[in-house]
Amino acid sequence: MVIYGWRTSHIKTEANTQLTCPHCGEKGGIHNSIYGRYVHIFWIPTISIGKTGAAQCQHCKKVYEPKEMNDDIKRSYKTMKGDTRIPFWHFSGAAIIAVIIGLFAINDKVEAQDEMEYLNNPMVGDVYEYEADNNEYSTLKVIEVSEDSVFFIYNNYTYTQKAGIEIIDVDSCYSDEAYMVSREELKVMYNEGTIYDVNRN
Ligand SMILES: [Zn+2]
Repeated sequence: MVIYGWRTSHIKTEANTQLTCPHCGEKGGIHNSIYGRYVHIFWIPTISIGKTGAAQCQHCKKVYEPKEMNDDIKRSYKTMKGDTRIPFWHFSGAAIIAVIIGLFAINDKVEAQDEMEYLNNPMVGDVYEYEADNNEYSTLKVIEVSEDSVFFIYNNYTYTQKAGIEIIDVDSCYSDEAYMVSREELKVMYNEGTIYDVNRN
């Protein structure tokens, strides 16, 4: 369940000493207050939905909603509203979401760079995860590297999903027979997605 709604938060209040209160006739007591409204998701402000506000006379305590303001008060209120910036924290949920998406993107990119580096410079002990058949996944382990080829032993077992495949990556699961793949072919298999992960300890 996602809990959301909207809230109003006070941003600032300023006195305008030039204004006269139409209700009590005192000059200098009108204060304008500006509020920001935002949508919260789980109480974290996420989307700003603009500003609102009112004026109040400090002598007679009369509150003027925008539609009740005379022209002078309205002008003063609108100027102040226009000059008031919505605080950044009213968007903090959106910022958090953007940062999380960015971190995932960077992490994916770094992992892909690592895998290309491993493919270009294979090392004994590298483990390649590949799709053996429809919804069956298995691993190959590098046992020897030559100038243009890589020698693997293959896993006798397959696993039904990508996640958790480490469970079959143990010595007793691997065959004794070596299997040779050219480096070029390996890159083709990686680019096609047959090989989908390369691990190095
Ligand atoms: Zn007043």
